[in-house]
Amino acid sequence: MNNQKPTRRNILRGAIGLAGLASASVIQRAVAQQAAPAQQQGARGGGNRPARQGSSQDRVLPGMQIVLLGTRAGPGVDLKRAETSTAIVVDGTPYLVDCGYGALRNMVAAEISPSKVEKIVFTHLHNDHTADLPALATLQWSGGRSKPLDLYGPFGTEDLARAVVAYCKVDAGIRTVDEGRKVNPEDLFIGHNVQATSTPLKIFKDDKVEVSAIENTHYPEHSRSQMPYRSIGVRFDSEKRSVVISGDTNFSANLVKLAQGVDVFICEIMEQGTRDRWLAQVAENPDLLNKASIGRHVSETHATPEDVGRMAAEANVKLVVLNHQLTNAGTSTPLGPLLEGVRKFYSGEVVLGEDLLMI
Ligand SMILES: [Zn+2]
Ligand SMILES: [Zn+2]
Repeated sequence: MNNQKPTRRNILRGAIGLAGLASASVIQRAVAQQAAPAQQQGARGGGNRPARQGSSQDRVLPGMQIVLLGTRAGPGVDLKRAETSTAIVVDGTPYLVDCGYGALRNMVAAEISPSKVEKIVFTHLHNDHTADLPALATLQWSGGRSKPLDLYGPFGTEDLARAVVAYCKVDAGIRTVDEGRKVNPEDLFIGHNVQATSTPLKIFKDDKVEVSAIENTHYPEHSRSQMPYRSIGVRFDSEKRSVVISGDTNFSANLVKLAQGVDVFICEIMEQGTRDRWLAQVAENPDLLNKASIGRHVSETHATPEDVGRMAAEANVKLVVLNHQLTNAGTSTPLGPLLEGVRKFYSGEVVLGEDLLMI
């Protein structure tokens, strides 16, 4: 457990303190974005700065750092935010949770070497959480990696790993002949289907972390009963710190169990007005109530600010970070209402997630 009280000020101060030990660029960017997101986004035209070459291999910070690589709800491409992905770096070893579009670019911006990633956990297999996986995998292969990349996630993850191997096949076929490559992609990308359970289930444990998961409520029962696919929340425990990533979810009693007492609770959030708009659309056309539709999906399967606050309070978490921010298309993120809704139920610190924020 981290002795430091996890206030917003401490997050930034802690980050600045770490800057003296190693690369400071991601920390500075995180601080700058928190201080003035509007100017940053405007000034940068939404893009990230080019990566500094050569420094990522040396990046070793003590303890656990959590870097938000993508905070956008999807599917969709946005110049201000990448799709959902979070890096959890423990004593220099990066683990990924989800790998949405733009994650790879933000890893490089954060000076986390893509070649060092050995384990990725997927909360579920919607494309806004998986789209950069083929890019990361083929980059690892062509970069000469020979150790396996283990992919963990709910049912379908083994299929996804096979699809990645298939994606790599043509490039590998060319480079094996033309460049004398030796590694077969089949030996590199290994999928592990994880059971979605109603009590926390250990997924894996190594010398740095223990990782467990639980089923959340992203797939409502009427869909769940017709398919084998599931959705999970994920918890990482290291020696000094713990973090839960909610995955996409509506209010989930299971997630409250998984997140009990956690240091950092990274939770998806949907603006109340966004849910109301989708609900109104469904109400206008009652046929949609009994049909699978995007409107019904969005309104039923995500957490409003009040849902997030209730889960955080019931789980007695120490810090909430708002992630996968789902708002009406074409509007900027309404910061005030998101935070106010959470604070109706949760009195601890709440941080609005930004790409490249390090916690
Ligand atoms: Zn999503
Ligand atoms: Zn989803």
